[in-house]
Amino acid sequence: MVSNTTKNKVLTDEEFVDGYRFITQFISEGVPFKFVLVQALKFFEEKMKDTYSTMMILNNKGTEFVDSIAYSLPSDSLKELMKLDVNDGLGTCGAAVVSKELIILEDLDTEPTWEQHNNVLRKLGLSSSWAVPIFSPSNKQVVAVLAMYSKKAKRPSAKELEIVFSYHQLISLIISNYRQTEIDFKTLDNDASYFDTRDLVKSSDYTTNQFILSIKNGINLGEFIPYYQPIIYGGNKEIYGVEALARWKHPEEGIVSPYYFIGAAERYGLIQKLDEAVSYQAMKDMSKIIKEIGRPIVLSINVSAHHISKDNYVSRMEYLLNKANFDPKNLSIEITETSLIENLDGVVMNIVQLKNLGIRISIDDFGTNYSSLNYLKHLPVDMIKLDQTFIQDILESQVDQKICQTIIQLAKDLNLDVVAEGIEKQEHLEIIEGYGCEIFQGFFFSKPMSKDDWKKYLTKKIN
Ligand code: C2E
Ligand code: MG
Ligand code: MG
Repeated sequence: MVSNTTKNKVLTDEEFVDGYRFITQFISEGVPFKFVLVQALKFFEEKMKDTYSTMMILNNKGTEFVDSIAYSLPSDSLKELMKLDVNDGLGTCGAAVVSKELIILEDLDTEPTWEQHNNVLRKLGLSSSWAVPIFSPSNKQVVAVLAMYSKKAKRPSAKELEIVFSYHQLISLIISNYRQTEIDFKTLDNDASYFDTRDLVKSSDYTTNQFILSIKNGINLGEFIPYYQPIIYGGNKEIYGVEALARWKHPEEGIVSPYYFIGAAERYGLIQKLDEAVSYQAMKDMSKIIKEIGRPIVLSINVSAHHISKDNYVSRMEYLLNKANFDPKNLSIEITETSLIENLDGVVMNIVQLKNLGIRISIDDFGTNYSSLNYLKHLPVDMIKLDQTFIQDILESQVDQKICQTIIQLAKDLNLDVVAEGIEKQEHLEIIEGYGCEIFQGFFFSKPMSKDDWKKYLTKKIN
């Protein structure tokens, strides 16, 4: 049993892109995620001689395999493998879950403690097995194991390992989508483990109750306000629009970032009120500003995917638009997701009605959330916002470069606009622009600003 990772790149760019396209093509064609996973396994088996591959999918607690997928391995053998507990002593898959590392079993006969596991493999004429844990995109929990088996006693080559590791991010996304759409929630023990952990309730001086109460009071007292970050066209650096980002103007702490309160507001049922307070203020501010400067600017507001599925969401939105005297054609709603959506049909219905009002719909943080790909399949969206984590290391990471290229191409194929978030340097802009993206947002252009600074920025920019 050995743990290992690849150090030197052995895959060529062309090989990587071919694989990425192979897999993403099925996604863009709307193929069910289970079938996409089977295709991914087919791809791995074709690239790795004499190997069979399987995907073993875990429940939410990571304690049990609840589903398995294979390409050429017979399904009854899969059932036997699934019966094995997730436990260090019971096979490569279980060991990969527990250790969170790659596990290689070069020869069955050298690992006597895995008797049950080895017997299943022996019946299939297999001699070696290795298992790679697949982590969820956001919280790095093990959600599945990709296991490879061979009839020969062998170790995977550096190239074989790199093939698997290069596609980890994409596989992880497909699995998250698969878990959401195609496996029974009950089997997955859908529990709180999926909820966002971004709020700092745990580490703050407040008890949870006091913290929640202070958010509630803050909303009533108008302490949650929008900050504004411009969204820019690359070519002429003109303004495309502006995103309203919530800030808590805290009486003692000063301006507080959303990372400290959005998660808690979502969990304790305050997000709808908070989103409405921030969106309404932003629409009111921007309605005045648009009149003053005499040209339209698209205002983007953030809404949690849970909130948008509510029955009263569209009527509340219409009420707020009216009250703020804001033209819906200048509004874009960015859907963000921090936990699983159970009511996708409700979201679709509401989005269709919002679009009928002239409102545009974007998917925020595209590429990293549980359902990004799933949304693209089901929701009539206008725009995707490429997540900033792909841009952060883009200058060094060939994998991130390829992912950005592929997502931008996917957006073009589907006739969607794409915004690249997190542009911090000229080099970021140049590289992403080179992939065909035309709209950008990031500190390179401006940090989010107060209403007054945003007005100054705008006046300077248009004069
Ligand atoms: P988001 O909607 O993806 O917003 C972009 C975030 O990236 C903002 O963080 C922005 O300040 C930050 N950012 C922009 N350019 C750069 C850059 O070049 N480099 C880096 N490192 N960061 C950049 P912020 O304002 O802290 O907001 C964090 C998240 O909180 C937002 O991500 C959004 O998901 C959520 N959020 C903010 N306001 C609201 C709101 O009113 N309602 C809801 N539901 N969520 C909100
Ligand atoms: Mg956003
Ligand atoms: Mg974002």
